Amino acid sequence: VSAAPGGIEIRVLGDSALFSRDGKGVSYLVRAGGTRLLLECGANPFWQLGPEGVAGLSGVIVTHAHFDHHRYLTELALYCRYGTKRALPVLATEAVARDLRECSSPALVRTLSDDGCRIIDVPYSRFVRDVRLGPRARYRLEGCTRGGRVSWRAVDAKTGRPVSTRRAKAVTGPPGTAPRLLVFDREYGEWVDPEDFYCFAERAFYLGGNRTWRCAKSGLVVQAIKAPSWHGPNSAAILLRRGAAKAAFSSDTVYDPDLWTRLAERKLKQRLPGSRKSFLAAEELRVPVGRLVERVWSRRRLREALSAYDGAVVFHDADYPGSVVHTIYAKLSAAAGGAAARWKGLVLTHTPELFTSMHPIACTGATFRVTSRGLAGINDGPVAWHKQDGKVYGLRKSRGGRYAIAFTEGGLKLERLRGGRPGLEMKLINDLG
Ligand SMILES: [Zn+2]
Ligand SMILES: [Zn+2]
Repeated sequence: VSAAPGGIEIRVLGDSALFSRDGKGVSYLVRAGGTRLLLECGANPFWQLGPEGVAGLSGVIVTHAHFDHHRYLTELALYCRYGTKRALPVLATEAVARDLRECSSPALVRTLSDDGCRIIDVPYSRFVRDVRLGPRARYRLEGCTRGGRVSWRAVDAKTGRPVSTRRAKAVTGPPGTAPRLLVFDREYGEWVDPEDFYCFAERAFYLGGNRTWRCAKSGLVVQAIKAPSWHGPNSAAILLRRGAAKAAFSSDTVYDPDLWTRLAERKLKQRLPGSRKSFLAAEELRVPVGRLVERVWSRRRLREALSAYDGAVVFHDADYPGSVVHTIYAKLSAAAGGAAARWKGLVLTHTPELFTSMHPIACTGATFRVTSRGLAGINDGPVAWHKQDGKVYGLRKSRGGRYAIAFTEGGLKLERLRGGRPGLEMKLINDLG
Protein backbone atom coordinates (compact mmCIF):
# COMPACT_ATOMS: atom_id res chain seq x y z
CA VAL A 1 0.00 0.00 0.00
CA SER A 2 1.47 3.32 -0.99
CA ALA A 3 1.53 6.06 1.59
CA ALA A 4 -1.36 8.48 1.33
CA PRO A 5 -0.24 11.96 0.28
CA GLY A 6 0.51 13.77 3.53
CA GLY A 7 -0.11 17.29 4.61
CA ILE A 8 -3.04 19.41 5.63
CA GLU A 9 -4.86 21.75 3.30
CA ILE A 10 -6.53 24.86 4.64
CA ARG A 11 -8.92 26.70 2.37
CA VAL A 12 -10.10 30.10 3.48
CA LEU A 13 -13.90 30.35 3.27
CA GLY A 14 -13.91 33.70 5.02
CA ASP A 15 -11.38 35.87 6.80
CA SER A 16 -12.79 39.22 7.77
CA ALA A 17 -12.13 41.19 10.89
CA LEU A 18 -15.08 42.07 13.06
CA PHE A 19 -16.96 45.19 11.87
CA SER A 20 -15.52 44.77 8.38
CA ARG A 21 -17.45 46.23 5.48
CA ASP A 22 -17.90 42.95 3.64
CA GLY A 23 -19.82 41.59 6.61
CA LYS A 24 -18.31 38.13 6.55
CA GLY A 25 -16.74 36.26 9.40
CA VAL A 26 -14.01 33.74 9.85
CA SER A 27 -14.13 30.19 8.52
CA TYR A 28 -11.64 27.68 7.11
CA LEU A 29 -12.10 24.33 5.44
CA VAL A 30 -9.53 21.84 6.71
CA ARG A 31 -8.81 18.93 4.36
CA ALA A 32 -6.58 15.96 5.04
CA GLY A 33 -6.99 12.88 2.87
CA GLY A 34 -10.74 12.41 2.72
CA THR A 35 -11.37 14.24 5.99
CA ARG A 36 -13.08 17.60 5.81
CA LEU A 37 -13.67 19.75 8.84
CA LEU A 38 -14.74 23.33 9.26
CA LEU A 39 -12.54 25.42 11.48
CA GLU A 40 -14.91 28.16 12.71
CA CYS A 41 -18.17 28.90 10.91
CA GLY A 42 -18.45 32.67 10.97
CA ALA A 43 -18.61 32.84 7.15
CA ASN A 44 -21.47 31.24 5.27
CA PRO A 45 -20.36 27.65 4.50
CA PHE A 46 -23.29 26.97 2.14
CA TRP A 47 -22.15 29.75 -0.16
CA GLN A 48 -18.85 28.08 -1.08
CA LEU A 49 -19.38 24.40 -0.23
CA GLY A 50 -23.02 24.02 -1.21
CA PRO A 51 -25.38 21.74 0.74
CA GLU A 52 -23.53 18.64 -0.59
CA GLY A 53 -20.22 19.99 0.68
CA VAL A 54 -21.73 20.78 4.05
CA ALA A 55 -23.25 17.30 4.30
CA GLY A 56 -19.78 15.77 3.80
CA LEU A 57 -18.22 17.56 6.76
CA SER A 58 -16.98 15.51 9.71
CA GLY A 59 -17.76 18.40 12.03
CA VAL A 60 -17.07 22.00 12.98
CA ILE A 61 -14.30 23.20 15.29
CA VAL A 62 -15.17 26.37 17.20
CA THR A 63 -12.52 28.23 19.22
CA HIS A 64 -14.66 30.75 21.08
CA ALA A 65 -18.15 32.21 21.21
CA HIS A 66 -17.60 35.53 19.40
CA PHE A 67 -20.15 35.56 16.62
CA ASP A 68 -17.70 36.22 13.78
CA HIS A 69 -16.46 32.67 14.55
CA HIS A 70 -19.75 30.76 14.84
CA ARG A 71 -22.46 32.87 13.22
CA TYR A 72 -23.62 29.96 11.03
CA LEU A 73 -23.65 27.31 13.74
CA THR A 74 -27.43 27.23 14.16
CA GLU A 75 -27.95 27.12 10.38
CA LEU A 76 -25.52 24.21 10.11
CA ALA A 77 -27.22 22.41 13.00
CA LEU A 78 -30.69 22.94 11.50
CA TYR A 79 -29.49 21.72 8.11
CA CYS A 80 -27.90 18.61 9.64
CA ARG A 81 -30.98 17.77 11.69
CA TYR A 82 -33.53 18.25 8.93
CA GLY A 83 -31.40 17.81 5.80
CA THR A 84 -29.06 14.98 6.72
CA LYS A 85 -30.94 13.60 9.76
CA ARG A 86 -28.01 13.69 12.11
CA ALA A 87 -26.67 15.98 14.79
CA LEU A 88 -23.82 18.32 13.86
CA PRO A 89 -20.56 17.28 15.55
CA VAL A 90 -19.11 20.40 17.19
CA LEU A 91 -15.52 20.12 18.37
CA ALA A 92 -14.85 22.54 21.22
CA THR A 93 -13.50 22.68 24.74
CA GLU A 94 -15.89 22.12 27.62
CA ALA A 95 -16.09 25.84 28.43
CA VAL A 96 -16.59 26.92 24.80
CA ALA A 97 -19.26 24.24 24.24
CA ARG A 98 -21.11 25.66 27.23
CA ASP A 99 -20.94 29.17 25.75
CA LEU A 100 -22.11 27.95 22.33
CA ARG A 101 -25.05 26.13 23.86
CA GLU A 102 -26.11 29.35 25.54
CA CYS A 103 -25.86 31.24 22.22
CA SER A 104 -27.57 28.69 19.96
CA SER A 105 -30.01 26.80 22.12
CA PRO A 106 -32.95 29.27 21.98
CA ALA A 107 -32.89 29.15 18.16
CA LEU A 108 -33.03 25.35 18.08
CA VAL A 109 -34.90 23.68 20.89
CA ARG A 110 -38.45 25.00 20.35
CA THR A 111 -40.31 24.38 17.13
CA LEU A 112 -43.72 23.36 15.81
CA SER A 113 -45.05 19.82 15.61
CA ASP A 114 -45.40 18.20 12.15
CA ASP A 115 -49.07 19.19 11.93
CA GLY A 116 -48.17 22.71 12.99
CA CYS A 117 -50.67 22.68 15.84
CA ARG A 118 -48.41 22.49 18.86
CA ILE A 119 -45.11 23.83 20.08
CA ILE A 120 -42.68 21.03 20.77
CA ASP A 121 -39.33 20.90 22.50
CA VAL A 122 -36.43 19.18 20.77
CA PRO A 123 -33.31 18.49 22.85
CA TYR A 124 -30.20 20.47 21.88
CA SER A 125 -28.35 17.15 21.55
CA ARG A 126 -30.53 16.30 18.52
CA PHE A 127 -29.00 19.28 16.74
CA VAL A 128 -25.50 19.46 18.14
CA ARG A 129 -23.29 16.56 19.18
CA ASP A 130 -20.71 17.92 21.60
CA VAL A 131 -17.32 16.46 20.78
CA ARG A 132 -15.13 17.54 23.64
CA LEU A 133 -11.58 18.72 23.03
CA GLY A 134 -9.34 19.07 26.08
CA PRO A 135 -10.00 17.86 29.61
CA ARG A 136 -12.99 18.17 31.93
CA ALA A 137 -12.85 20.63 34.80
CA ARG A 138 -12.88 19.32 38.37
CA TYR A 139 -15.37 21.92 39.62
CA ARG A 140 -18.34 23.65 38.12
CA LEU A 141 -20.85 26.26 39.19
CA GLU A 142 -24.35 25.36 40.19
CA GLY A 143 -27.15 27.89 40.43
CA CYS A 144 -30.27 27.56 42.51
CA THR A 145 -33.20 29.88 43.02
CA ARG A 146 -33.94 30.71 46.61
CA GLY A 147 -36.73 33.18 47.30
CA GLY A 148 -36.74 34.47 43.72
CA ARG A 149 -32.99 35.11 43.76
CA VAL A 150 -30.43 32.97 41.96
CA SER A 151 -27.46 32.03 44.07
CA TRP A 152 -24.37 30.14 42.98
CA ARG A 153 -21.93 27.73 44.53
CA ALA A 154 -19.03 25.55 43.45
CA VAL A 155 -19.68 21.83 43.18
CA ASP A 156 -17.55 18.82 42.31
CA ALA A 157 -18.15 18.15 38.61
CA LYS A 158 -18.06 14.37 39.09
CA THR A 159 -20.21 13.93 42.19
CA GLY A 160 -22.27 17.12 42.16
CA ARG A 161 -21.45 17.61 45.83
CA PRO A 162 -20.67 21.09 47.14
CA VAL A 163 -16.97 21.89 47.51
CA SER A 164 -15.52 23.38 50.68
CA THR A 165 -15.68 27.18 50.59
CA ARG A 166 -11.99 27.24 51.54
CA ARG A 167 -11.24 25.42 48.28
CA ALA A 168 -13.64 26.89 45.69
CA LYS A 169 -16.47 29.39 45.50
CA ALA A 170 -18.69 31.29 43.11
CA VAL A 171 -18.09 34.95 42.30
CA THR A 172 -20.78 37.04 40.68
CA GLY A 173 -19.96 40.49 39.38
CA PRO A 174 -22.43 43.23 38.47
CA PRO A 175 -25.96 42.17 37.38
CA GLY A 176 -26.01 40.87 33.83
CA THR A 177 -22.53 39.33 33.99
CA ALA A 178 -21.78 35.63 34.18
CA PRO A 179 -20.67 34.02 37.47
CA ARG A 180 -17.06 32.79 37.70
CA LEU A 181 -15.31 30.16 39.75
CA LEU A 182 -12.68 31.18 42.26
CA VAL A 183 -10.35 28.41 43.39
CA PHE A 184 -7.63 28.24 46.04
CA ASP A 185 -4.43 26.88 44.49
CA ARG A 186 -2.54 24.90 47.12
CA GLU A 187 0.83 25.05 45.38
CA TYR A 188 0.83 28.86 45.17
CA GLY A 189 -1.28 29.41 48.30
CA GLU A 190 -3.31 31.87 46.25
CA TRP A 191 -6.87 32.37 44.99
CA VAL A 192 -7.18 32.16 41.22
CA ASP A 193 -9.77 32.13 38.44
CA PRO A 194 -9.11 28.55 37.31
CA GLU A 195 -10.34 28.92 33.71
CA ASP A 196 -7.70 31.62 33.22
CA PHE A 197 -4.99 30.37 35.53
CA TYR A 198 -4.43 26.75 34.54
CA CYS A 199 -3.33 25.18 31.30
CA PHE A 200 -5.06 21.94 30.33
CA ALA A 201 -2.23 19.77 31.68
CA GLU A 202 -2.68 20.94 35.27
CA ARG A 203 -4.38 18.36 37.43
CA ALA A 204 -5.15 20.82 40.25
CA PHE A 205 -8.16 21.95 38.21
CA TYR A 206 -8.51 19.58 35.27
CA LEU A 207 -9.28 15.90 35.43
CA GLY A 208 -7.01 13.85 33.18
CA GLY A 209 -8.00 13.01 29.65
CA ASN A 210 -6.90 15.94 27.52
CA ARG A 211 -8.99 14.69 24.67
CA THR A 212 -8.11 15.06 21.00
CA TRP A 213 -10.19 14.25 17.93
CA ARG A 214 -8.63 11.94 15.39
CA CYS A 215 -9.65 10.43 12.09
CA ALA A 216 -8.28 6.91 11.70
CA LYS A 217 -8.46 7.06 7.90
CA SER A 218 -6.61 10.28 7.21
CA GLY A 219 -4.56 10.38 10.42
CA LEU A 220 -5.66 13.95 11.12
CA VAL A 221 -5.53 14.89 14.81
CA VAL A 222 -7.25 17.94 16.27
CA GLN A 223 -6.09 19.21 19.65
CA ALA A 224 -7.15 22.23 21.71
CA ILE A 225 -4.50 24.24 23.55
CA LYS A 226 -5.57 26.89 25.99
CA ALA A 227 -2.16 28.10 27.18
CA PRO A 228 -1.39 30.71 24.45
CA SER A 229 -4.99 31.81 24.02
CA TRP A 230 -5.70 35.16 25.72
CA HIS A 231 -8.71 37.01 24.38
CA GLY A 232 -11.36 37.53 27.08
CA PRO A 233 -14.09 34.93 26.50
CA ASN A 234 -13.34 31.24 27.05
CA SER A 235 -11.17 30.30 24.11
CA ALA A 236 -8.60 27.82 22.89
CA ALA A 237 -6.08 27.62 20.09
CA ILE A 238 -6.24 24.61 17.78
CA LEU A 239 -3.42 22.34 16.74
CA LEU A 240 -3.90 20.23 13.61
CA ARG A 241 -1.47 17.35 13.09
CA ARG A 242 -1.07 14.80 10.36
CA GLY A 243 2.13 12.81 10.51
CA ALA A 244 4.88 15.43 10.78
CA ALA A 245 2.71 18.20 9.27
CA LYS A 246 1.54 20.59 11.95
CA ALA A 247 -0.71 23.66 11.68
CA ALA A 248 -1.63 25.86 14.63
CA PHE A 249 -4.59 28.19 14.58
CA SER A 250 -4.46 30.88 17.24
CA SER A 251 -8.16 31.69 17.38
CA ASP A 252 -8.31 35.39 18.36
CA THR A 253 -5.70 36.17 20.91
CA VAL A 254 -2.99 38.40 22.30
CA TYR A 255 0.41 36.93 21.47
CA ASP A 256 2.62 38.92 23.80
CA PRO A 257 5.29 37.07 25.83
CA ASP A 258 6.05 40.24 27.85
CA LEU A 259 2.42 40.59 28.87
CA TRP A 260 2.14 36.83 29.51
CA THR A 261 5.20 36.98 31.79
CA ARG A 262 3.57 39.79 33.78
CA LEU A 263 0.39 37.71 34.08
CA ALA A 264 2.37 34.80 35.51
CA GLU A 265 4.86 36.71 37.68
CA ARG A 266 2.74 39.40 39.28
CA LYS A 267 1.10 38.70 42.61
CA LEU A 268 -2.09 40.74 42.98
CA LYS A 269 -3.56 42.02 46.20
CA GLN A 270 -7.05 40.84 47.05
CA ARG A 271 -9.63 43.49 47.79
CA LEU A 272 -12.04 41.59 50.00
CA PRO A 273 -15.57 42.94 50.46
CA GLY A 274 -15.54 42.05 54.20
CA SER A 275 -13.41 40.22 56.71
CA ARG A 276 -11.07 37.38 55.77
CA LYS A 277 -13.20 35.05 57.87
CA SER A 278 -16.42 35.89 56.03
CA PHE A 279 -14.55 35.58 52.70
CA LEU A 280 -13.38 32.06 53.53
CA ALA A 281 -16.86 30.99 54.67
CA ALA A 282 -18.78 32.43 51.70
CA GLU A 283 -20.24 30.13 49.02
CA GLU A 284 -20.79 33.09 46.74
CA LEU A 285 -19.28 36.56 46.68
CA ARG A 286 -20.91 39.42 44.87
CA VAL A 287 -17.91 41.40 43.67
CA PRO A 288 -16.06 41.46 40.34
CA VAL A 289 -13.78 38.41 40.24
CA GLY A 290 -10.78 40.61 39.39
CA ARG A 291 -10.76 41.94 42.97
CA LEU A 292 -10.28 38.48 44.43
CA VAL A 293 -7.84 36.89 42.00
CA GLU A 294 -4.27 36.82 43.36
CA ARG A 295 -2.52 35.67 40.17
CA VAL A 296 -3.78 35.53 36.58
CA TRP A 297 -1.64 32.82 34.95
CA SER A 298 0.28 29.90 36.37
CA ARG A 299 3.97 29.68 35.42
CA ARG A 300 3.19 26.36 33.80
CA ARG A 301 0.65 28.05 31.53
CA LEU A 302 3.31 30.62 30.58
CA ARG A 303 5.85 27.90 29.78
CA GLU A 304 3.35 26.01 27.68
CA ALA A 305 2.22 29.17 25.86
CA LEU A 306 5.81 29.98 24.83
CA SER A 307 6.36 26.61 23.17
CA ALA A 308 2.81 25.79 22.06
CA TYR A 309 3.40 26.41 18.36
CA ASP A 310 6.85 24.81 18.01
CA GLY A 311 7.25 23.01 14.70
CA ALA A 312 3.92 24.27 13.35
CA VAL A 313 2.83 26.58 10.59
CA VAL A 314 0.98 29.21 12.61
CA PHE A 315 -2.23 30.86 11.44
CA HIS A 316 -2.47 33.89 13.65
CA ASP A 317 -4.63 36.99 13.98
CA ALA A 318 -2.82 40.32 13.68
CA ASP A 319 -3.81 43.91 14.27
CA TYR A 320 -2.51 47.47 14.54
CA PRO A 321 -0.94 48.88 17.72
CA GLY A 322 -3.62 49.89 20.20
CA SER A 323 -5.56 46.66 19.95
CA VAL A 324 -6.13 45.08 23.36
CA VAL A 325 -7.78 41.77 22.47
CA HIS A 326 -5.76 40.97 19.34
CA THR A 327 -2.09 40.53 18.55
CA ILE A 328 -0.04 43.54 17.52
CA TYR A 329 1.66 42.70 14.22
CA ALA A 330 5.10 43.84 15.37
CA LYS A 331 4.98 41.54 18.41
CA LEU A 332 4.01 38.58 16.29
CA SER A 333 6.53 39.35 13.60
CA ALA A 334 9.26 39.61 16.26
CA ALA A 335 8.13 36.33 17.79
CA ALA A 336 8.13 34.60 14.43
CA GLY A 337 11.69 35.71 13.78
CA GLY A 338 13.01 35.45 17.34
CA ALA A 339 11.91 33.32 20.23
CA ALA A 340 9.51 31.46 17.98
CA ALA A 341 11.97 30.77 15.19
CA ARG A 342 10.89 27.21 15.87
CA TRP A 343 7.69 27.95 13.94
CA LYS A 344 7.63 26.61 10.42
CA GLY A 345 5.73 29.51 8.95
CA LEU A 346 3.28 32.26 9.77
CA VAL A 347 0.06 33.24 8.01
CA LEU A 348 -1.89 36.23 9.23
CA THR A 349 -5.63 35.95 9.69
CA HIS A 350 -8.35 38.30 10.84
CA THR A 351 -6.34 41.37 9.83
CA PRO A 352 -7.91 44.83 9.49
CA GLU A 353 -9.12 45.76 6.03
CA LEU A 354 -6.09 47.81 5.10
CA PHE A 355 -2.97 45.93 6.10
CA THR A 356 0.60 45.34 4.94
CA SER A 357 2.72 42.44 6.12
CA MET A 358 5.97 40.58 5.55
CA HIS A 359 4.03 37.36 6.16
CA PRO A 360 1.26 35.91 3.96
CA ILE A 361 -2.19 37.32 4.66
CA ALA A 362 -5.17 34.98 4.45
CA CYS A 363 -7.95 36.01 2.12
CA THR A 364 -11.19 34.38 1.09
CA GLY A 365 -10.56 31.80 -1.62
CA ALA A 366 -6.88 31.21 -0.80
CA THR A 367 -5.64 27.69 -0.09
CA PHE A 368 -2.63 26.96 2.10
CA ARG A 369 -0.90 23.59 2.11
CA VAL A 370 0.96 22.58 5.24
CA THR A 371 3.50 19.77 4.96
CA SER A 372 6.19 18.45 7.30
CA ARG A 373 8.54 21.07 5.80
CA GLY A 374 6.20 23.98 6.42
CA LEU A 375 4.08 26.06 4.10
CA ALA A 376 4.20 24.70 0.56
CA GLY A 377 4.83 27.09 -2.33
CA ILE A 378 5.77 30.07 -0.21
CA ASN A 379 9.56 30.24 -0.73
CA ASP A 380 9.30 31.37 -4.35
CA GLY A 381 6.39 33.60 -3.39
CA PRO A 382 6.08 37.32 -2.73
CA VAL A 383 8.33 39.20 -0.28
CA ALA A 384 5.37 41.02 1.26
CA TRP A 385 1.59 41.10 1.22
CA HIS A 386 -0.93 43.89 1.12
CA LYS A 387 -4.64 43.73 1.87
CA GLN A 388 -7.03 46.34 0.57
CA ASP A 389 -10.71 46.41 -0.42
CA GLY A 390 -11.18 42.76 0.50
CA LYS A 391 -8.34 41.62 -1.79
CA VAL A 392 -4.83 40.48 -0.99
CA TYR A 393 -1.89 41.42 -3.21
CA GLY A 394 1.57 39.92 -3.31
CA LEU A 395 4.56 42.25 -3.56
CA ARG A 396 7.64 41.14 -5.52
CA LYS A 397 10.89 42.90 -6.33
CA SER A 398 10.89 44.22 -9.85
CA ARG A 399 12.71 46.76 -12.00
CA GLY A 400 9.46 48.42 -12.88
CA GLY A 401 7.95 48.12 -9.41
CA ARG A 402 6.29 51.26 -8.13
CA TYR A 403 5.86 50.46 -4.44
CA ALA A 404 7.93 50.41 -1.26
CA ILE A 405 7.23 49.39 2.32
CA ALA A 406 7.80 51.86 5.14
CA PHE A 407 8.21 50.79 8.75
CA THR A 408 6.19 53.14 10.96
CA GLU A 409 5.06 53.25 14.58
CA GLY A 410 1.61 52.27 13.41
CA GLY A 411 2.82 49.19 11.53
CA LEU A 412 3.95 48.64 7.96
CA LYS A 413 2.73 51.09 5.33
CA LEU A 414 2.70 50.67 1.59
CA GLU A 415 3.98 53.72 -0.26
CA ARG A 416 3.92 54.61 -3.93
CA LEU A 417 7.39 55.38 -5.25
CA ARG A 418 8.07 58.56 -7.17
CA GLY A 419 10.93 58.72 -9.60
CA GLY A 420 12.67 55.92 -11.40
CA ARG A 421 13.88 53.78 -8.48
CA PRO A 422 13.02 50.11 -8.87
CA GLY A 423 10.69 48.89 -6.12
CA LEU A 424 8.07 46.32 -5.48
CA GLU A 425 5.46 45.25 -7.93
CA MET A 426 1.97 44.41 -6.68
CA LYS A 427 -0.08 41.51 -8.02
CA LEU A 428 -3.44 40.16 -7.01
CA ILE A 429 -3.28 36.83 -5.21
CA ASN A 430 -6.07 34.33 -5.34
CA ASP A 431 -4.38 31.12 -4.40
CA LEU A 432 -1.17 30.79 -2.44
CA GLY A 433 -1.19 26.99 -2.63
ZN1 LIG B 1 -12.92 36.90 19.13
ZN1 LIG C 1 -12.82 37.20 15.69
